[in-house]
Amino acid sequence: MTDSNMPDGAPSQAIVIGAGLGGLASAMRLGAKGYRVTVLDKLDRPGGRGSSITQSGHRFDLGPTIITVPQIYEDLWAACGRDFHADITLKPMDPFYEIRFPDGETFTARQSTEAMEAEVHRLSPRDVKGYRRFMKDAERRYVVGFEGMLLKPMHRIWETLKVLPEFALLRADRSILGLAKARVRDPRLRMALSFHPLFIGGDPMHVTSMYALVGYLEKQFGVHYAMGGVQAIADAMTRVIEAQGGQMRLGETVDEILIDKGAARGVRTTKGETLHAPLVVSNADAGHTYAKLLQKQRRRRWTDAKLKSRKWSMGLFVWYFGTRGTRGQWADVGHHTIVSGPRYEGLLKDIFIKGHLAEDMSLYVHRPSLTDPSCAPEGDDTFYALSPVPHLGHDTPVNWATEGEVYRRKVAKVLEGLIPGFEDKITASRFFTPETFRDRYLSPNGSGFSIEPRILQSAWFRPHNVSEEASGLFLVGAGTHPGAGVPGVIASAEVMAGMVPAAPHPIDLTTPKLAAE
Ligand SMILES: Cc1cc2nc3c(=O)[nH]c(=O)nc-3n(C[C@H](O)[C@H](O)[C@H](O)COP(=O)(O)OP(=O)(O)OC[C@H]3O[C@@H](n4cnc5c(N)ncnc54)[C@H](O)[C@@H]3O)c2cc1C
Repeated sequence: MTDSNMPDGAPSQAIVIGAGLGGLASAMRLGAKGYRVTVLDKLDRPGGRGSSITQSGHRFDLGPTIITVPQIYEDLWAACGRDFHADITLKPMDPFYEIRFPDGETFTARQSTEAMEAEVHRLSPRDVKGYRRFMKDAERRYVVGFEGMLLKPMHRIWETLKVLPEFALLRADRSILGLAKARVRDPRLRMALSFHPLFIGGDPMHVTSMYALVGYLEKQFGVHYAMGGVQAIADAMTRVIEAQGGQMRLGETVDEILIDKGAARGVRTTKGETLHAPLVVSNADAGHTYAKLLQKQRRRRWTDAKLKSRKWSMGLFVWYFGTRGTRGQWADVGHHTIVSGPRYEGLLKDIFIKGHLAEDMSLYVHRPSLTDPSCAPEGDDTFYALSPVPHLGHDTPVNWATEGEVYRRKVAKVLEGLIPGFEDKITASRFFTPETFRDRYLSPNGSGFSIEPRILQSAWFRPHNVSEEASGLFLVGAGTHPGAGVPGVIASAEVMAGMVPAAPHPIDLTTPKLAAE
């Protein structure tokens, strides 16, 4: 076991556990404040769920595909004295995405209000007025929930109590599906207006209607694709961190956060190495941070029992595959397609409440090769198909080791209706199940998005960005305030950095890095 001594200038050392987008954003923010940051991640690439894998010439974006609110990235880069757009090319999507319903109808989402209203009118003329009301609801929720809460630290209950009157006024107790039902009558539109929380792990039947703000975000700021995938963003973040004098240590798993006399002192890795720093930021899942990395500590708030009693977001089955010579084929299938299954509420109940793997499914299908040909060999297509499934914490969890291939074939059957004949053209194929999420990202219950964003698991009720278990310990990422999704985890880093003073000894880039000491 090696034990690096507290080096000179130790108060300026910071350790970030996890190179997910929240961890990378934290390292950038701390670097900008003069800290010398060491980032450790068990994976061999930065980006966490936002990283990619390459197989047979196909680059598969593993997770996030939709970039909203470019301002969040611009602000992060600007805090480091840089220009986001000099590093990353964002391509606006038009249309945003298409939903295909079992009756053969479609709903195409676009930025233009006129186009959206025309689409609503085409499906259900009597719902246009209700749709307009829904979009007004979305805007009001954006002002309170996004502008008012996203970047505020929520570890003092007062911050949450302050917004309660507005929450009551906005009927935040009502679910987003409840709000959609109150505004429009067509079941297809109810789905189209309420499914968005699924992208951050929330059950539309139970997630607060505050999440209607996502519809407003899309309309206001557009939907974009980052050329090179979100991996390109993670790689650019890494370059900023290294230019700041920070160090990336990939392939390193943290086993324990070291606490002494109530203060964070550093971490110990699974290889037995100890790294010291008075500031530790964990981007590992909040559940993993408390249950595993702090298992030796007597915890006041986030005990194992409390973590177990949380409602966790659903698991994900994601099938990544490439097809040869198909670029000109399936011309009606765009970059983002949602194939809506025969049931909406019944399927949600199966996934979130009963923990039952249903025979039917709804799929999100990603085809980035249309926008970014660099992700596939020339003329080929790169796809992923994502199906929300129960997480592993239900009473009788699915055994994915045996069920995975069976389920992949069921997904293929549904996809056959969208991209007929695709199976004969497959050249690369790999799938992730909740067990992959558990083992790869150390996600409790193999959940896709950590703790579910229900109202009583949000703001003060969510794991705080500053830990109550030890001084000098901070948490960022999907399981913390404000929550999952790339804008959420990048915001969590900003909230964290706002609570950390500037480094006592800002780093001198000419001094050697931690590894060399
Ligand atoms: C399939 C999918 C599609 C999505 N689509 C979108 C989308 O379109 N738009 C959007 O905004 N969001 C989307 N999301 C959500 C978004 O990707 C996540 O919420 C976000 O990327 C999570 O970031 P994070 O900072 O919490 O870290 P994570 O990505 O969870 O990364 C945490 C990192 O910590 C590492 N780690 C954990 N424990 C340890 C340890 N003990 N030692 C060392 N390293 C450790 C892990 O290896 C991992 O790299 C999607 C997610 C998925 C899975």
